[in-house]
Amino acid sequence: MKCPNCGVEAPAGAPECAGCGIIFAKFKKKLESLPAPSPVRFKPWVGRWIAAAIVVVWTVAFGLYYRRLVSRMPPRAPAAPAPRR
Ligand SMILES: [Zn+2]
Repeated sequence: MKCPNCGVEAPAGAPECAGCGIIFAKFKKKLESLPAPSPVRFKPWVGRWIAAAIVVVWTVAFGLYYRRLVSRMPPRAPAAPAPRR
């Protein structure tokens, strides 16, 4: 059998691992005593944060896009004269 801890092949019936020295019976008990890994649940506040993040990102992105758009547009009326050097 393979050691569940380090993967070293241990002779069948061996009480402990030759590789890492764990005692198989103890290791098995420890594994069983551990709580089963619960499935990852989506917490409600995560969704709210993601929504908020999306709104912020969109606002910033649109703001930048709008600024670029405005700066590209030719001024309709002659604006203040460009500063002369
Ligand atoms: Zn081992």
